[in-house]
Amino acid sequence: MKIALIAHDKKKPALIQFVTAYQKVLGQYELFATGTTGLRLIEATGLSIHRFQSGPLGGDQEIGAMIAKNKMDMVIFFRDPLTSQPHEPDVTALIRLCDVYDVPLATNMGTAEILIHGLERGDLKWRTIVNSDEGAQNE
Ligand code: PGA
Repeated sequence: MKIALIAHDKKKPALIQFVTAYQKVLGQYELFATGTTGLRLIEATGLSIHRFQSGPLGGDQEIGAMIAKNKMDMVIFFRDPLTSQPHEPDVTALIRLCDVYDVPLATNMGTAEILIHGLERGDLKWRTIVNSDEGAQNE
């Protein structure tokens, strides 16, 4: 199970708090992040996280590419709805792709809590089926 973690600058403290609180659960999965978010999370938690480019430099698009290949199973993206972002089109595209591929997406802490509890309960096991179908199709 692969999980992407992203936060806009003003939301990074909240994501660090969230990931620290659920470190044990999240640590069981393959974690990915945009550049600065990943760096901050690694510094704060010591978790192993694959870092892409910084969001404004294409990191959201790199995560989007994984979604388009059905290689991302959950996205936790703490957006800042009160600050305009230079890479707003990339943000919109990422969210759109989550909808195209039915990838569970949390854009705020309230929803992220629910997703993490679902993850702990095994509610996302269907993603493994999606992934194995993909594997079979690509053979
Ligand atoms: P960052 O990118 O983690 O490199 O700050 C996040 C974003 O703004 O999409």
